[in-house]
Amino acid sequence: MCVWGSIGVTASIMFSRQIFHFVGAFCVLAIAYAIGFNVSVHTNDAAIESRYETLAQAGRYRAAAVYGQRLLAHRERNGELPNSLAPLKAQVAQTLLDAYRPADAVPLLETALASEWAKGLSPIPYAKLEHALAIASMQSGDYSSAVAIYAAFLRIAGDEVLPLHSHGNFSPSAKESHDAAVYYGKAVAEAAVGFADALTPLGDVSSLTGNRDERLKTLAEMSELGAHYALGQESLYSAAGLLATAHKGRRDILGDDDADTVQSAMILGPVYERLGRLEDAEKLYLKAFHAQEKRIGANSPELSLYMKLLAGVYTAQGRSTEAEALYKLMRALFRDAFGERRYAANQKTNRSFDVDRPVSPQFVLSNKYKPKDLVRAERYFVPLSKSPNVDEMKVRLALDNEAEVDAEENSLPARLARLISLCQSEAGERLSLRSGYRSFNTQRDLFARIGHKGRVTPPGMSEHQLGLAVDIDVNGRLMRQSDKSYRCFEENAFRFGFILSYPPGNNYLPGEDSFEPWHWRYVSIETARLYREVGPVGRPQEFLASLECYEKQAANGVFPIVGERDVCLTSGVQIADTGQENLVPADTAKTDKGISGGKVNPPKGAFLN
Ligand SMILES: [Zn+2]
Repeated sequence: MCVWGSIGVTASIMFSRQIFHFVGAFCVLAIAYAIGFNVSVHTNDAAIESRYETLAQAGRYRAAAVYGQRLLAHRERNGELPNSLAPLKAQVAQTLLDAYRPADAVPLLETALASEWAKGLSPIPYAKLEHALAIASMQSGDYSSAVAIYAAFLRIAGDEVLPLHSHGNFSPSAKESHDAAVYYGKAVAEAAVGFADALTPLGDVSSLTGNRDERLKTLAEMSELGAHYALGQESLYSAAGLLATAHKGRRDILGDDDADTVQSAMILGPVYERLGRLEDAEKLYLKAFHAQEKRIGANSPELSLYMKLLAGVYTAQGRSTEAEALYKLMRALFRDAFGERRYAANQKTNRSFDVDRPVSPQFVLSNKYKPKDLVRAERYFVPLSKSPNVDEMKVRLALDNEAEVDAEENSLPARLARLISLCQSEAGERLSLRSGYRSFNTQRDLFARIGHKGRVTPPGMSEHQLGLAVDIDVNGRLMRQSDKSYRCFEENAFRFGFILSYPPGNNYLPGEDSFEPWHWRYVSIETARLYREVGPVGRPQEFLASLECYEKQAANGVFPIVGERDVCLTSGVQIADTGQENLVPADTAKTDKGISGGKVNPPKGAFLN
């Protein structure tokens, strides 16, 4: 490290010559260069400043950095206050970074960021400073700090709907928040190169700092960032570095059998596979499998996922006998778990599996309702917008056909993963799960926090509590009607068992316009097809409420004809005879048994299915 600059320029040239012994050859050159050319600038602020700027502009960063540090020291000595020095500190820090002196840039950036001046900055300039600090930290070997900064960026970038957390005195406008979210996303993408350089893909925790809790926090953030980088082929190597470090760190601290350790292994494994490291992937899956077996018991259907991953590796390695044995075991597990037992339960209540249960102000879920077959969507390769271990990244398995040989393929998350993959490649947009299961309490808190802005359903009325609804992000923000992938979902979601719960013009939710192009709900493929074929257009909740009637109609070959009364709609809503697929309410006084209770306003505008 170059001590000359931080000591300041009061020392005489004689003294500085003494310390030459202690500085690196490069510093000697830089300082000698500076001294040799301009001794007079030592005392003249303006002269140092002009020298600094000239050198920086000329791209002579090493020399410029020395002058920058002198300028700072000079001004500090002259009593300039830290707050007014802050912008210069930020500038000199950048020069130090350009001069490949990251360790010297870190303290300058830290003090600049802590100043009142920084608190008044708008979001992007502030984020630029944080980005610079992250780079400087990473380059000087402190990747914990870098990880903390980028993990925070990632969380804000993925949460455009919520107001950006202001860092100080500045309250950003909606546009500034949006632009900053875009900047955060870009900064995270840029950081991939740095992580790929800093971390080994096999995991090395030697530079991890802090106490146990701090280290665990860093490891969780590494997992988060790693999972994000794993979404793209180009950042796979960075993903491997972060995830392998997270996995190794968690093994050291928490042990092999801890759920978080297993979780890291399960995200890292597929990354190894994609990098062609099949043996490393195999080792991970085996360990994870045994850990899970211990944790959840040898008969749990959740084990099948580990078997499947392992079988996939065996297949890729040409070990087909082992792969086949695993597949066999897996099918047996599924038969036991979801076969006869479930069938018997279904017979009793007819619809106890309730993938087609309506939820609305008329069909409220109790605060006790919690589905029993929640699984982590990430385990089925659904790309996520959030950390894979939060409840919101879970969905129901919702297996609907016990007779299927490979039942897991027909689960909600597996189908969602396929739908997303289809529409990603068709639309060329990046899709991810923003929100899946939400407990009654989560929904209650969310509603309390941002319910006044609309777009958040009151607790008990949300399909998210069913574990069947998914909010989809497109390129890091909620799906919009104008997105190509929305088109793709409109055309294909039913093939995977999903329908649009809140179509344009619906009146299911409070507020002016409750059209939610991002909110898709699983009802099973059969039911989604039925809805498309015989259901009332744009009225999914009424359809679900009268599902048995529609099933009977379809079984008897009765399909509603435009203009005829839809006998299944107990509220008396008819399919209009305009041929435009619009709905008009019929006799609103007729009955209060239907989902809309006869109190609905006439829906406006055209309906999309
Ligand atoms: Zn939703």
